Amino acid sequence: MTDWNALSDEAFRRQVRTFFETEYPEELRHLPHRAKFAEIRQWHEKLYAKGMVAPAWPVEYGGMGLEASKLLIFYEEQQRWGVTRGRDMGVQMVGPLIIKFGTQAQKHYWLPRILSCEHIWCQGYSEPGSGSDLASLRTSAVIDGDYFVINGQKIWTTMAHDATHIFMLVRTDPRATKKQEGISFVLAEMNQPGIAVRTITTLAGEDEFCEVFFDNARAPCENLIGELNKGWAMAKTLLGFERIFIGAPNLAQNALVQLRTIAQGRYMFNDPVFRDRFAKVALDVEDHAALYTRFADQLKRGETLGPDVSMLKIWVTETFQEITELMIEAAGPDGGMIGPLQVGNVGIDVLANFYKARPTTIYGGTNEIQRNILSKAVLGLPE
Ligand SMILES: Cc1cc2nc3c(=O)[nH]c(=O)nc-3n(C[C@H](O)[C@H](O)[C@H](O)COP(=O)(O)OP(=O)(O)OC[C@H]3O[C@@H](n4cnc5c(N)ncnc54)[C@H](O)[C@@H]3O)c2cc1C
Repeated sequence: MTDWNALSDEAFRRQVRTFFETEYPEELRHLPHRAKFAEIRQWHEKLYAKGMVAPAWPVEYGGMGLEASKLLIFYEEQQRWGVTRGRDMGVQMVGPLIIKFGTQAQKHYWLPRILSCEHIWCQGYSEPGSGSDLASLRTSAVIDGDYFVINGQKIWTTMAHDATHIFMLVRTDPRATKKQEGISFVLAEMNQPGIAVRTITTLAGEDEFCEVFFDNARAPCENLIGELNKGWAMAKTLLGFERIFIGAPNLAQNALVQLRTIAQGRYMFNDPVFRDRFAKVALDVEDHAALYTRFADQLKRGETLGPDVSMLKIWVTETFQEITELMIEAAGPDGGMIGPLQVGNVGIDVLANFYKARPTTIYGGTNEIQRNILSKAVLGLPE
């Protein structure tokens, strides 16, 4: 078994980069949509064979056991080469919770099936009316013998139509006085008569999200992770690494390279107003990358990130949106065309970039919520 942490950071980066560049299928680079498992099965099998499915998991559970600096390098290289995240909610979200809060039996059963993708997961948190205010969720789970009986609705469930299982927050004690209490973390099989899935088509025409309806759906009580009614605090612990990951600079950096290509191809740099606007976003990308490095260094030193990390996500997503808007302008009359625009010998999908940038300010905690965090926890402003 490879001891990744024994390598220097540079040697590790080289190995990961070479692996991605030689093994990752060219046609799957920078996919403009979330891939279904069937599309990426062969890539998953390669990762699985190399023991590289779960970079952050401890080695004893089949992960790579990467220390913080190597983990950042892994994700940086993944994004740099445009490697899809795949169907990673098992590895990124439910797996870490099972590792931290699950019983031995739960770890033994669920973890290997996450790694092999025998089980493919979706995240059932948001509900109509309970997104930013997630703790107000109403989907209920009532114990009936050895089972939870689940009723309610989830929404914006990414790729639920391609999932075999759902991990969800459900209300198990409706009488709890605080809304954060009385919520539990439960796993359920998707393929059962009590669950119906309806896809939601995105602006880009992709079926990426779903509504999931529960009508007396059932999950065995042994699928409860952690303590009954204590799911809220547990789910919040998931946020750790995610907070820097969603603020990584690659989204904006990749888009800037494409904007530069279009602008050169269309002689836009002859226009001083465009040049000014390009310079502004280019500097924003540089400054953001410098800030990201500061947070990354904190992690590498083993320090915990503070609430100020919220800056990263706001900055990168809004810069990404600005760049994609400039791309449309730079493309002129072709800016509204569906499919790749040929610039020299490169194909650039202007609209797909624009669409991809839209939801980035919403997921992972909206930018308004991130600003609330900054105003309260960093600046100490009154509510
Ligand atoms: C690409 C994508 C993938 C997603 N995948 C999943 C998934 O797999 N599973 C899942 O459970 N959910 C998923 N979501 C849902 C996501 O978590 C929610 O969209 C998000 O939490 C916001 O909730 P909402 O859509 O209900 O908006 P709301 O919370 O209703 O917010 C509407 C608007 O009001 C603003 N707002 C709300 N409260 C405040 C406040 N206190 N102060 C200032 N402004 C406020 C928001 O910023 C936003 O602009 C996904 C969303 C996206 C975009």
